Amino acid sequence: MKIVKSVIERIINIYSNNPKLLLETIIIITIGILLKLYYPKIRGFMGEFWVKLELGKLPKDKYVVLNDIVIKDEKGTHQIDHIVISNFGIFVIEMKNYYGLIKGREFDDKWCQHLGKTKYYFVNPIHQNYGHIKSLSNLLKLDDKYFISIICFSNQAKIDAKCSSIVTQVEFLRNEVLKYRDIIINCNVNELKNIIISNNVVDKSIRKQHINDIRFKVNHNKELERNMICPKCGSELVTKNGKYGKFIGCSNYPKCKYIMK
Ligand SMILES: [Zn+2]
Repeated sequence: MKIVKSVIERIINIYSNNPKLLLETIIIITIGILLKLYYPKIRGFMGEFWVKLELGKLPKDKYVVLNDIVIKDEKGTHQIDHIVISNFGIFVIEMKNYYGLIKGREFDDKWCQHLGKTKYYFVNPIHQNYGHIKSLSNLLKLDDKYFISIICFSNQAKIDAKCSSIVTQVEFLRNEVLKYRDIIINCNVNELKNIIISNNVVDKSIRKQHINDIRFKVNHNKELERNMICPKCGSELVTKNGKYGKFIGCSNYPKCKYIMK
């Protein structure tokens, strides 16, 4: 206790003799706290920034890049991170700013992010992006064979994904787009761009509603899980013994592969 007291006294002494140092310390601590609080937001912002920068390097005469598009249709609103329109295809990019080890397969319901020993499950981004492609395909009245789905993770992630559709990282994103060289769409790229732009929801309240809808869905699913009901098919959730220990999954397996986080 004596040591603690003398250390505190010395600190008070140092700062009272040097108010400038005190101010600097307060500023550094405040910045540190703010960075910690807003870290996920900063990460997200930086991730989007790098993707925009990479896509911006595509030849402007051949590719049109659209960022953060919200399309509303009868199924609800779809928030699409990036769209690259070209005569070589329409690339629909879903950006996931996740790091750690990412594991998943094409037809899994959930993919898994491993951070050390902790696992976080998230909706299969290929399924999510397929919904986006469907909405664009309806809007542009173009068959979905003209759309190329790309799931893009941050460069820090380690990806272990077994699937035929493209799952990549920011640094390889542009090359993935450039791999497509056959002209498959014969219409004017700018016309397609204008259709998307004119249907893009810019109304902030609708955009906010989109986020609220997702939150409501998450809360609703949690409520069902608490009652041991599968949010996907309505069957009972049961405790199972897996390769890596116990987990809670749908009793309707293998028809339904729902696993509780
Ligand atoms: Zn189920």
